[in-house]
Amino acid sequence: MIDGKANTSRGGTAGAGESGIPAGAGAGWVKSFEQGNAGMKAELGGKGANLAEMTNAGLPVPPGFTITTEACRAYYACGGMLPDGLMAETESALRELERKQGKTFGDAANPLLVSVRSGSVTSMPGMMDTILNVGLNDETVRGVAAASGNERFAYDCYRRLVQMFGNVVFGIEPIRFEKLLHELKRETGSEHDRDVPAEGWKRLVDRYKALITGECGKPFPQSASEQLRLAVEAVFRSWNNQRAKVYRKVNRIPDEQGTAVNVQAMVFGNKGDDCGTGVVFTRNPSTGEKTLFGEYLTNAQGEDVVAGVRTPLPIAELARQMPDVYASLQRTAERLERHYRDMQDIEFTVEHGKLYLLQTRGGKRSAQAAMKISVDLVEEGLLTREEAIARIEIGHLDQLLHPAIPEGERLDVVATGLPASPGAATGIAVFDADTAEAWARAGRRVILVRAETTPEDIHGVLAAEGVLTSRGGMTSHAAVVARGMGKPCVCGCEEARIDLDAREFRAGDAVIREGEAVSIDGSSGRVIRGEVQLRAADMSAELAKLLEWADGIRTLRVAANADNPADAAKAREFGAEGIGLCRTEHMFLAPDRLPAVREMILAETKREREAALAKLLPMQRSDFEGMFRAMDGLPVTIRLLDPPLHEFLPNADELRQRIAELSAENAAAADVGAAANDRRESLRELEAMLRKVRSLHEANPMLGQRGCRLGVLFPEIYDMQAEAVFLAALTCLREGVAVVPEVMVPLVGHVNELRFLRERIERTAERVLGGEADRCRFKVGTMIEVPRAALTAGQIAECADFFSFGTNDLTQMTYGCSRDDAEGKFLTHYVDHKLLPHNPFQTLDREGVGRLIEWALHQGKAARRELKTGVCGEHGGDPQSIFFCHAAGLDYVSCSPYRIPLARIAAAQARLALGTAPRPGEAEREPAWTAGRDAS
Ligand code: PEP
Ligand code: MG
Repeated sequence: MIDGKANTSRGGTAGAGESGIPAGAGAGWVKSFEQGNAGMKAELGGKGANLAEMTNAGLPVPPGFTITTEACRAYYACGGMLPDGLMAETESALRELERKQGKTFGDAANPLLVSVRSGSVTSMPGMMDTILNVGLNDETVRGVAAASGNERFAYDCYRRLVQMFGNVVFGIEPIRFEKLLHELKRETGSEHDRDVPAEGWKRLVDRYKALITGECGKPFPQSASEQLRLAVEAVFRSWNNQRAKVYRKVNRIPDEQGTAVNVQAMVFGNKGDDCGTGVVFTRNPSTGEKTLFGEYLTNAQGEDVVAGVRTPLPIAELARQMPDVYASLQRTAERLERHYRDMQDIEFTVEHGKLYLLQTRGGKRSAQAAMKISVDLVEEGLLTREEAIARIEIGHLDQLLHPAIPEGERLDVVATGLPASPGAATGIAVFDADTAEAWARAGRRVILVRAETTPEDIHGVLAAEGVLTSRGGMTSHAAVVARGMGKPCVCGCEEARIDLDAREFRAGDAVIREGEAVSIDGSSGRVIRGEVQLRAADMSAELAKLLEWADGIRTLRVAANADNPADAAKAREFGAEGIGLCRTEHMFLAPDRLPAVREMILAETKREREAALAKLLPMQRSDFEGMFRAMDGLPVTIRLLDPPLHEFLPNADELRQRIAELSAENAAAADVGAAANDRRESLRELEAMLRKVRSLHEANPMLGQRGCRLGVLFPEIYDMQAEAVFLAALTCLREGVAVVPEVMVPLVGHVNELRFLRERIERTAERVLGGEADRCRFKVGTMIEVPRAALTAGQIAECADFFSFGTNDLTQMTYGCSRDDAEGKFLTHYVDHKLLPHNPFQTLDREGVGRLIEWALHQGKAARRELKTGVCGEHGGDPQSIFFCHAAGLDYVSCSPYRIPLARIAAAQARLALGTAPRPGEAEREPAWTAGRDAS
């Protein structure tokens, strides 16, 4: 691995020579442009491969050669020394270049000048270094002046070389050079660079050289060959500069790749007013519109366009100033687009009216532009639908489907947490759910800031634009609930220290008080002080078209995790093919339902519990009806209650405090009337509640009395839920709405649990449906989220019509770590230090959890051929995990409504990349996904 242990000392030992390590397999470190092609990116880097491709396509590319990425890797493997043979090969490629150009490198009269540019495999714009005009020295500069008849031009080139060299090779801050340039312009009375006379540039070159000698104790090298060697080494080193490392980390580019180095004959855009340099996109990168988009500068070189020293002109101006060049640029742009079948970002230089191409690459584009360009390229016949789908960047969909912070916005980022639910939100900070609700009702946009959220905060989450928590991981309550609602959420932001008493949070030096503006970006985890203007979500016509094409390709079904009729309707809008997970405990969280739930939990006897359940039944029933109607004949998988019960009860510390306060009041009060009785009554209730809270306390609630364990101990709870499901189904059927209920039992570990509960569910169905049983085809299945269930899947399948892999719990239990604790604590460290390739709660761990799934799938299908299988954990909305699900041969994935478009595209990409997956028990696949529709 390239670990940055290269010889990074500047000026002193840099370029001390070759390693002494034999070239070995390295023979062939250098390839001329004629030897390469676009398919050789891994070896030549993107820039080198494309320069080769353009050269061979006969486009006007200045000749040159590429030093391979392998040479860079060898450089690092040698501890920062050029591998043996590299410079010899470079020299010989240089001789060939001299021959082509009719010039000689380092020759005083007719010198060849070259550029030395980085070029990584994956585009990393501006992250690494480039040096232009290599080969100039005190002698050759006079040769260039004589040959061009333009002394000013020659010394302009020289001062640029010394500056770039000083910075890139010797590590001197650019500001030091800029100061000297500024002084010189003042002395010579020049407003712009172009006003500085030749004499001025000469003076500046001397000052730059003096700066280098003063800083490094050695002079700017006069030998052209030494310049080249040092420049190549410096470009290799720039692979590991700070900004490149950060960029790679953010964009998940492997550190091992290394950069290529392109050495190319210089062409000059700074030779006069019929010269120039610019950058052009073949389509508008913000909107996707099909027009040339870019800018250029006349009489300028390379970096001037990006450096911002002069304001470049829009490319349309070129049509006026140099119409022939513009026309040739237009033709070239079209040709390149047709060749690469993609929008291109092209760097060009014009030397005395002749166009040269210095680079072409796939242009970076906004999410909106990406969708439009994909669809347009298909409609123009340049791409097939499949190619367009395969090329979609999934990250773009996240941007499109949620409000986002526009690129380039200046932001006061005060902290960064986990990017738990995508999209950005802006509002005023509030520190409790009641205030959030009250302020939102008064028309204010709020961001709910909590240490962590619990079900009791749900009304605050609902009212807020977004949620920020200082504790908890990507699957914490706040994260799961926010994702389900499509609300932005940043969680586990430990930098944000919340002081509830002071109603403020601090992050670094920043203090944000309640009522002050704050913004969050749930796609990146950023917490930003102040308000930010957001770009609205956009389900464009182009995206809709791409989704339709994706549906024609994919074989994996996409269902939704939705817990209420509104989410179910949203899921349908996004193209859900059913509900794969309705977490019924979420249906009890509304403030008007909590009392009945608490009554159920606090019940001391079965009778008391049944009374409370009777209150809950109509609520559940009406929700189920709403969901069946929204899904209109598509399957609706309803998971029976899986709550850590204590989550529905008040916090023990708060209860203790209220009891203490009330007792103190009682002791102090002299009254004996009704008020005292009321107080005593409240005290009794609170004490009973505290007793229950204590009795429900579990050392490890995640592994406690959850899921079906509750249903086994208190079967009347699941009986009520099953009854509500079948009553709702009956009502809908009578209305003419087709229904396909699937009753799902959570957290099964042993087949006997499922057998016991299945029997009761079937009995309830028989009782409720009576003579209409034939009209309601339902299934009973289970979640596979306990490793033992996966391992004994063959037995379990005998009692299950379907398996839904609960990969949140399955990951947690397979790894033996609680997801909330892991994400907040050690997991980030593990991923940062590459102990794990990714967070297994986000991207499915194929080797561990994946194996369990595959095993369970095969055992399950062997026992029950028509077994329906899917994933409903958070992984169901993660593109890489979706690839796994497709490859494993699962029938469907289920994810939150807002991730459905993304899942539809990812499922199509998986099919395109991997082909049709072999399906365990192929012929016996679920006969009709929409069986209920047929029945209607
Ligand atoms: C799971 O465990 O993957 C799952 C979907 O259940 P929950 O997240 O509700 O525990
Ligand atoms: Mg679970």
